[in-house]
Amino acid sequence: MVNALLLFLLVMFVAIYWHWPKLQHRFWLNKYHGNQLSEQQKTLLLRYMPIYQKMTDADREKLERHVVWFLNEKRFIGCDGLKLNDAMKLIVAADACLLVLNKPWPLYKNVKEILLYPSAYYAPQTSTDNAGLVSYHNTVRQGESWPGGTLVLSWHDVLEGNRLPSDGHNLVFHEFAHQLDQETGKTTGTPVLAKTTDYKEWARIFSRAFTLLKTHVAYGMPHVIHSYGATNEAEFFAVITETFLEKPNDLRQYDPEIYSMLVGYFGFDPIKWH
Ligand SMILES: [Zn+2]
Repeated sequence: MVNALLLFLLVMFVAIYWHWPKLQHRFWLNKYHGNQLSEQQKTLLLRYMPIYQKMTDADREKLERHVVWFLNEKRFIGCDGLKLNDAMKLIVAADACLLVLNKPWPLYKNVKEILLYPSAYYAPQTSTDNAGLVSYHNTVRQGESWPGGTLVLSWHDVLEGNRLPSDGHNLVFHEFAHQLDQETGKTTGTPVLAKTTDYKEWARIFSRAFTLLKTHVAYGMPHVIHSYGATNEAEFFAVITETFLEKPNDLRQYDPEIYSMLVGYFGFDPIKWH
């Protein structure tokens, strides 16, 4: 009798564990059923999020549902005296949710909180030189993404990213792309892909494009992807995400192969929003 009960509990546990993402999604659908962005919130997005203006009605409605969920499930904290308001949270949430518009649930399963600073902030950094000498200094930062699920953003730079929608820079896209990358448990520039067979092709295209950018940067040749992407593979993924969303036509022309790889990964083609 005890063995039968234990077996039953084990089967139930495995079934719940296996179906957890679907159960959680259904729970959220019920929880936020009927919750919508207010007309005031939609007006704010129309004013501050250029891509939102150009989305199809269906894409916009899907984004709005994601934003409602994000605003309710993720914690925002104002830092360095910043008084948070609804517009700040709304714009960060909308930019973040755009990246996962067509991703399967759970979305941003590791993200817990977003720390907002008024502008670029100082962060302590430790570095070691070739002789092994450790030094401590402060660096100025616009944002960070921590593997534990915390993001740090400069509000000034969040706004700048949205004010200039075609320059290839958007802080929220950049830092949340790092979160997608970090969902694998490492920060390598390769996020979780739909099928295990996809990794080989991703590695081939990604590594070729990364090498190409490093070459273009090293020889001072023109490149559509910002040179910061040549820092390492993780930064390359974050920067190509910004380029993909903000300069899709240029990226497709510069490197059609990586462009179509990103269309496949994100599940949308941002050219239709430009
Ligand atoms: Zn970065």
